[in-house]
Amino acid sequence: MPDPVLSVKNLCVDYITGQGPVRAVDHVTLDVQPGEILGVAGESGSGKSTLAQAVLRILPPPAVISGGSVHFKGQDLLAMGEEALRAVRWRGISMVFQSAMDSLNPVLTVEEQLLDTMTAHGGLSPEVARTRAAELFDMVNIPVERLGSHPHQLSGGMRQRVGIALALALEPSLVILDEPTTALDVMVEAEILTEIKELQQRLGFAVIFITHDLARMLQFSDRVAVFYAARLAEVGDAARLQSAPGHPYTRGLLGSFPSLHPGSEEPKSIPGSPPSLRTPPGGCRFHPRCPVAEPRCQTETPPAVSISSRHVAVCHLATPRAS
Ligand code: ATP
Ligand code: SF4
Repeated sequence: MPDPVLSVKNLCVDYITGQGPVRAVDHVTLDVQPGEILGVAGESGSGKSTLAQAVLRILPPPAVISGGSVHFKGQDLLAMGEEALRAVRWRGISMVFQSAMDSLNPVLTVEEQLLDTMTAHGGLSPEVARTRAAELFDMVNIPVERLGSHPHQLSGGMRQRVGIALALALEPSLVILDEPTTALDVMVEAEILTEIKELQQRLGFAVIFITHDLARMLQFSDRVAVFYAARLAEVGDAARLQSAPGHPYTRGLLGSFPSLHPGSEEPKSIPGSPPSLRTPPGGCRFHPRCPVAEPRCQTETPPAVSISSRHVAVCHLATPRAS
């Protein structure tokens, strides 16, 4: 196994509120291998975006990283000064947000923004950056003549494509996609995800892909990490997780989404709702909703069980797979 491009260990992130800290990422440990697509799944509020923002150190206040480490290609991101971090953002790790409007400047043309990113963060000359901007537009299937448009003159799908072009501009090793197609209609979403996957296979960057849509995630990702109430519940190969999930929450999630395959069973939602992170339940946080909970689940924190070499489930009932 090559060295991971990203290594997150025991990461904790707290939102410091008037009523005390709310832990939104709780002792999360995860690796991303070079060139792989890691999907991050979990219900709303489980900490997925907070994790992504912590990795890039773009957490808005009142969030603080309160423990753990994040290494990118062996460099300790949490110990880095702002100057060194600037060199990692865009060139090493880039991000595509849910709405490209969040990352695009409404008063500049998209070409100006691409040129800005490439000259300021990548040190490219304006001439080289201009040629590269046209190449990038071609790569993400936007007619080159739209380079002179302002963001509001483009459709939602085109704006997301511009966000992707920006993220790929300096050939990063890791691209974080935080719900990149949630706001788009299903056809445009499928088209854009297919294009991203083709680019990923051609250019070889790794991806962290965050989405609510588990069916799409399983189709798109090599591995999937499932979060529940700020903690990692399960991580494993997408195909394995789909055919033999090791955690009751993953099983529930799989059953609660309409499948992309015709003729599959009707979706059934998991009873109850996720706990407030202000007062999470003790023991296993999933126990109030778990159909197979045992008495110990209410008081004992479950262990991380290695089901196989690349498959871990955090559950009292998980067992290593007989080889
Ligand atoms: P979604 O899928 O809806 O985007 P998510 O899994 O990405 O959700 P986060 O946005 O990371 O979840 O939020 C995780 C938790 O952090 C929330 O449940 C909430 O308790 C807490 N949180 C987020 N923002 C704040 C804030 N500004 N102040 C206090 N707590 C916050
Ligand atoms: Fe269910 Fe217990 Fe496993 Fe938690 S530890 S998922 S409550 S069986």
